[in-house]
Amino acid sequence: MLLKRSKEEVVLLMLCGLSIPSILPFGIVRLFQGNLLMATVDLLIVLGMLCIMVFVWRTRRVRLAGIAVTVFYSMGMLAAVYVKGVPIVYWVYPTMIAAFFILRAKEALMINSVSLLCLIAILHDAMLLLDLSSLVVTLVLINLFAYIFSDRTSLQHFELNQQAEKDFLTGAGNRRAFDKQLQTICAKDGMQKDVCILILDLDHFKRINDQFGHMVGDQVLRQFCSLLRSRIRTVDSFFRYGGEEFVVIAMGIDDIAAARFAEELRSLVERAQLLRDHPVTVSIGVAKKLTGEDSEAWFQRADAKLYEAKLSGRNAVRVAREESA
Ligand code: GH3
Ligand code: MG
Ligand code: MG
Repeated sequence: MLLKRSKEEVVLLMLCGLSIPSILPFGIVRLFQGNLLMATVDLLIVLGMLCIMVFVWRTRRVRLAGIAVTVFYSMGMLAAVYVKGVPIVYWVYPTMIAAFFILRAKEALMINSVSLLCLIAILHDAMLLLDLSSLVVTLVLINLFAYIFSDRTSLQHFELNQQAEKDFLTGAGNRRAFDKQLQTICAKDGMQKDVCILILDLDHFKRINDQFGHMVGDQVLRQFCSLLRSRIRTVDSFFRYGGEEFVVIAMGIDDIAAARFAEELRSLVERAQLLRDHPVTVSIGVAKKLTGEDSEAWFQRADAKLYEAKLSGRNAVRVAREESA
């Protein structure tokens, strides 16, 4: 069951889970030693972590739970230092590092900075100035390193994700990005405005390759994409479905407006004359998403219309009627 959960959920569940074997034994030993105050702090931390674990398991709300966990165990750590003093100070290091695993770098840094100020207030009488300064400097350094590391990792993560969803040749979204977008739209079924799918297939593209070579074919694909990109709105998305087939997802327009939009794209491509002395045209199938319709059925309706456009002689637009579903 853990396998079906997001990375963030797993990290949170594991961190909360780990706090039980690592803190509970201390709490029990202290209870038997009669150190009631410290035992209470330990047992409260364990109880809090358990509650958060159940919350994440049931609601999957990791952002809120992440902040709650970090604030909670930072307070637990401060309470332990307050009660037990300097010997507990070694626990501050893993506690502060853990914040960077759970939260965004900036949030972790903010919570740790507040903890550090509280720590100075708690320990300023209990430690020599030199020792306290060493503690503060080393904590500032590990926070700085963790911040840089975490920030760089998220940037790389973001860039990798972007690369993984882009088509190498044309820069359009790839099939993976398209499937993701379809899933998102279908998950919001009935809760969003109209949305239409346009499947575009270049006409007789094989002939272009045969006549002018693959390199020219590639160049036409790139120019075709720049042309479309210049025309689609920022709310629309644009993908290479495969080969010389592309998909535009047009948000917030009905099938009538989508038909007009598709006709504009078709005419734009025809007029652009992407190759001298050879026509480059596109056929387009259009379908509006129907409430309750799954992504496959929606795509199939547009694909059937594309097939009709091809049969009609190509360089044409065909639109699915709502009642044809
Ligand atoms: P239709 O009008 O029926 O769509 O005819 P078509 O020739 O466009 O369709 P067909 O499916 O027969 O051929 C598609 C061609 O697209 C064949 C393939 O070589 C070419 N193609 C697919 N991907 C690329 C690519 O990345 N670069 C180039 N240059 N050609 C590609
Ligand atoms: Mg084609
Ligand atoms: Mg094709």
